[in-house]
Amino acid sequence: MARRSDAVVDIKDILGKLTIEDLQIKGKRVFIRADFNVPLDDNLVITDDSRIRSTLPTINYAIDEGAKVILASHLGRPRGKVEPRFSLSPVVKRLQRLLNKEVVFVPDCVGPQAEQVVAKMKEGDVVLLENLRFHPEEEKNDEAFAKNLARLADFFVNDAFGTAHRSHASTAGITKFLPSAAGFLMKKEIEYLKGVVENPVRPFVAILGGAKVSGKIGVLENLVDKVDKVIVGGGMAYTFISAMGYEIGDSLVENEMLELAKNIMDKLKRNNIKFYLPVDSVIAQTIEAGAETKIVTTQELPKGWRALDIGPASVKLFSEALQNAKTIIWNGPMGVFEIDAFSRGTFAIAHSVTDAYALTIVGGGDTDHAVHKAGVNDAITFISTGGGASLQLLEGKDLPGISALTDRK
Ligand code: AMP
Repeated sequence: MARRSDAVVDIKDILGKLTIEDLQIKGKRVFIRADFNVPLDDNLVITDDSRIRSTLPTINYAIDEGAKVILASHLGRPRGKVEPRFSLSPVVKRLQRLLNKEVVFVPDCVGPQAEQVVAKMKEGDVVLLENLRFHPEEEKNDEAFAKNLARLADFFVNDAFGTAHRSHASTAGITKFLPSAAGFLMKKEIEYLKGVVENPVRPFVAILGGAKVSGKIGVLENLVDKVDKVIVGGGMAYTFISAMGYEIGDSLVENEMLELAKNIMDKLKRNNIKFYLPVDSVIAQTIEAGAETKIVTTQELPKGWRALDIGPASVKLFSEALQNAKTIIWNGPMGVFEIDAFSRGTFAIAHSVTDAYALTIVGGGDTDHAVHKAGVNDAITFISTGGGASLQLLEGKDLPGISALTDRK
């Protein structure tokens, strides 16, 4: 398996915003909005620290440049109240280990205590503020609250791509009061999800899957003008198959999307974009481990059964379609990969994606989980850290957390 994580993207300033490297941060207080929204188990132990790791280049750069580094994030959904189980305190220990230096934790993100701690900081010191969402003003993008956050710093750096689609005090409001720049993670996300998508090396193939057409329709509509091939698997495929007039049994279908699915297929045909749907499926009567399964062709999906994974012929077809790809973007699993019996299609496609000699981009969430489970994550060029944010970017929309940053002159 080839390793292409070091593939070079030559996208000339697709961001159009200041980045942390444009700021003179030596001796200055830098407020870094990170995404430390990590999963915790019942004992509040972090079960996956990749979100913390992905922002280390920005934090380390700020430390090395001699900035006073103030880190802030949300965690979970405390809904504006102080809830100990959503405290960022487990992140402090992990950060200390990863940075190999002391990180001072402040139990509130605004107010006199935070200001006193920050006033005592020296160059290269690191402070982590408590969960921003313990204050209801954060999600309301309250101006006074944003101003209080801004009081702590000379510069604002946003590296929280996962929340860039939200207009909150710590992602948008604060930019009114401070020169604001993107961190390295944010820059990289934009370079891949926007830069590569707009300037792909061809053939450019999009693979879409997951449960619903409605969740990916914006992405499909945006990509229709940009890609050479579209592969659709997962539950969303059966709305298309139904729109073509086939029996789909009890497979997932969104009846209100049938017309749209037809229109998209027409448009793909008009634009001479190759369109691939599953030609066979793994079917069962219930979505559960141990259920009886069969493999049937798309023409023979029986009533009372539901298609829960693409079949082996579809894997072969999709893999052949991927073979000459130079750029691949993948968002959404090919089946119910959480259950072993319906996971083979997704894992096989994960291998085909990494076997292609292509620059490969994986949209966040489930697909990220799937490529890890398939053991090929290291061979993907770029895995986005954002779910909703990466979908919104792929829909061709601006993200408030990025629009709000200071324009590059
Ligand atoms: P999404 O969030 O739309 O990307 O959907 C991801 C979910 O789609 C996963 O949890 C999968 O289990 C589910 N999924 C994928 N294929 C199917 C299918 N054929 N039928 C039902 N659910 C599916």
